[in-house]
Amino acid sequence: MAGKADSLLPAEIVPAFRPLLPTAAQLLPYLQRIDVARLYSNHGPLAEELEARLRSALKLSNAYLLTANSGTSALVGGILATSGRANSARPYALCPAYTFIGTASALQQCGYRPHLVDIDQASWQLDPQRLLDHPLLGQVGMVMPVAPLGRPVPIEGWLKFQQQTGIAVVIDGAASIEAMLRDSARYVGEIPVALSFHATKVFATGEGGALLNSNPDILRKAYQTLNFGFMGSRESRTASINGKMSEYHAAVGLACLDDWPQRIADYAAVNAGYREAFAAADIQRPLHLGPDIASNYAVMECRDAAESTAIASALGAAGIESRLWYGLGLQQQPVLHDIGRDALPMTENLAPRLLGLPMAPDLGLPTIKQIVKTIRVFLEAKSL
Ligand SMILES: *Cc1c(COP(=O)(O)O)cnc(C)c1O
Repeated sequence: MAGKADSLLPAEIVPAFRPLLPTAAQLLPYLQRIDVARLYSNHGPLAEELEARLRSALKLSNAYLLTANSGTSALVGGILATSGRANSARPYALCPAYTFIGTASALQQCGYRPHLVDIDQASWQLDPQRLLDHPLLGQVGMVMPVAPLGRPVPIEGWLKFQQQTGIAVVIDGAASIEAMLRDSARYVGEIPVALSFHATKVFATGEGGALLNSNPDILRKAYQTLNFGFMGSRESRTASINGKMSEYHAAVGLACLDDWPQRIADYAAVNAGYREAFAAADIQRPLHLGPDIASNYAVMECRDAAESTAIASALGAAGIESRLWYGLGLQQQPVLHDIGRDALPMTENLAPRLLGLPMAPDLGLPTIKQIVKTIRVFLEAKSL
């Protein structure tokens, strides 16, 4: 790969992320069920089966799970089912600056003005304790903590926050399904949490998501808000969107679950490959992998923003893509240029340094070694 930079074909570029979803052959039995049932959406049998299988995998005995057509829709369902649309007395929603734009987009769709808060240095997340004396709290209608890079959000602190402040909390759990599979009691309960099943996540339906909560009333309300406000009739009785998962996406989810042990093993092998290659090359930088974060991310913590930029371009010159998964933080997104924010020293420090290295469930060891060698050569040239 290296040394052929002037004749790079797309196939020779190592993408920042290369999804691998179930094949047509794996999908076929499910698609044939759709042909027979002639049900294509609206909580059909495949979506219901996917919900049941996910609940069982997550050991959610008294907690519930509702599919949605994206993680962002699941967030909207969680917001509309709890605080509802923003009102003039409490127009603000607090969310971290270190996240994907979908977090803020869901809040804005529900009428909130996102206000960006800094993250904690160790957890990369909002700290519920620190938010208790936030000066805006009297005008805040919603708080949305985020599981950054799949590092899960424990609900306990947020339950206390909600009880103390009366402010609704919905967690953007995004890519944190693996942590939930390990210990759902810690991450699923009375605070609604949304998951994304986007093609880039470990559990993927192409587009899709789910809302998880132990309160059946909240789940029922979310079901209604994600189906035009309908519930048992065609009268719309609440603010709503069309957030339902189609049967075709549910088919992908079911095929993905059929293959789950293999998928987890594949990602684990890639994670192990990175871990060993970094150790062998003696790269003195933290490398964040599963299970600390989701196993679909390999994130190198560079010393500073300049090093991160330089490594990204050294990789780029070798045909290897990399990615700052959340850019430099939401404060840098043009669409959010006029929203309020706290001082964001930790986001500004971390976001440019957390460099996402290429990831795919079938990323080969030779490619991983090539990536790590490119980084090693760069650091050596700089005598670092
Ligand atoms: C993936 C992701 C989303 C968006 O989910 P979609 O399923 O693409 O709508 C939102 N927030 C975070 C943090 C994500 O990683």
